[in-house]
Amino acid sequence: MSQLLWPLLRFLLLLRVAASVNFFHHRYEQLVQALYNVHNECPEITRIYSIGSSVQGRELYVLEFSDNPGVHELSEEPEFKYVGNMHGNEVLGRELLLQLSEFLCEEYRRRSERITRLIWDTRIHILPSMNPDGYEVAANQNLDAIGYLTGRNNANGIDLNRNFPDLNTFMYYNEKTGGPNHHIPLPANWKSQVEPETLAVINWMNCYNFVLSANLHGGALVANYPYDKAQEQRGRGRGYHHASNTPSPTPDDKLFRKLAKAYSYAHHSMHQSPTCGEQFADGITNGASWYSLSKGMQDFNYLHTNCFEITLELSCNKFPPQKDLEKEWLANREALVTYLEEVHQGVKGLVSDQNGNGIAGAVISVQGIGHDVTSGDMGDYFRLLLPDTYTITASADGYQPQTATVTVGPAGPSLVDFQLTPNPVKGPLEKKAPATSLSSKVLQKKVVPRAAHKKTQR
Ligand SMILES: [Zn+2]
Repeated sequence: MSQLLWPLLRFLLLLRVAASVNFFHHRYEQLVQALYNVHNECPEITRIYSIGSSVQGRELYVLEFSDNPGVHELSEEPEFKYVGNMHGNEVLGRELLLQLSEFLCEEYRRRSERITRLIWDTRIHILPSMNPDGYEVAANQNLDAIGYLTGRNNANGIDLNRNFPDLNTFMYYNEKTGGPNHHIPLPANWKSQVEPETLAVINWMNCYNFVLSANLHGGALVANYPYDKAQEQRGRGRGYHHASNTPSPTPDDKLFRKLAKAYSYAHHSMHQSPTCGEQFADGITNGASWYSLSKGMQDFNYLHTNCFEITLELSCNKFPPQKDLEKEWLANREALVTYLEEVHQGVKGLVSDQNGNGIAGAVISVQGIGHDVTSGDMGDYFRLLLPDTYTITASADGYQPQTATVTVGPAGPSLVDFQLTPNPVKGPLEKKAPATSLSSKVLQKKVVPRAAHKKTQR
């Protein structure tokens, strides 16, 4: 579609009377219309924005749900994302995310307590299609004759779930040398090595401090968690190869299993693992123990950002017939909401200086779990954890680290704020921002006074 037509089309879409998302396969224009329909129905809690465009120029639209769309509410609202249709021919996730969008809007309008609370307490970002070009290729086929891989890749023929910078290699190297497995920097030339859709998603991840995410696929029925890529091992006389079917757990393995089970057990049948040819205990699997996959999106989330992502395989049939869509929505509806609610667990709070100004990029480490998260632009952090008692340390360049002990219960996150004292030798102004912060210049502009914020630690 030409660049000139878009503003006109968007204007017309805004004028259209709201209508419900029906159970059919939405072509690109219909998908955009469906997003605008939901936005028109619930303008006060939604926002539509684009994170970039595909190879063929289709905008990658995101629908955001929040009681204050477009605004990150300090310490209050963890950022959550759902990504669908990364493989153009795996289409159920795309339709489910449209249904979910309509469901959230309607439930909010009818004042459902559960959904209202979710929208008040969470900032939800929904990208129904990461690969709209591939989708159109798949949807143009005769569904009876569709090839298993037709439309999987983007318009340059690239598999987007094999297109993220390979940070696992650095992570496995760091494991041997004591280096970190978090906030691993991007290779210098990464932008020239990724597709436009991948670039858009990486820029998106760097704009929002996402805490939890799921990436919706098809072709199996299982909730798959990191790592996807197995460690390369030296075979006897055969050089390096990927260890097949060898689990590759993260330091957050127990948490990831719980997150994956939250979906599989809330799904009508995933936990029973009805077969698509493969059986999975509890309907979950570690990615590498299924098969090793390099340059995937979920490992990238964990190794580069604060976000914990799992990959949901939602249907044996990658392109299910239209008549099955309603049944599939009912099978997944509770699971999609339950998984969203998982973002509200663990510990959250604010890291600030002695004046109550938020410190961006402060490192939050949990004793016994070798994977840190960092505070966001405004100094707030969210660390997903299972119920237990933890020793947590906040540290930032130029400040003395501070440690707190906290008990995490099963219901809702515990609040732990940290107020850091500058190092006696060097003040914070003499120091550079920590290497893990996204952009020290931007971050320092955005710090806000939080003198009135409730402190549990001093
Ligand atoms: Zn896929």
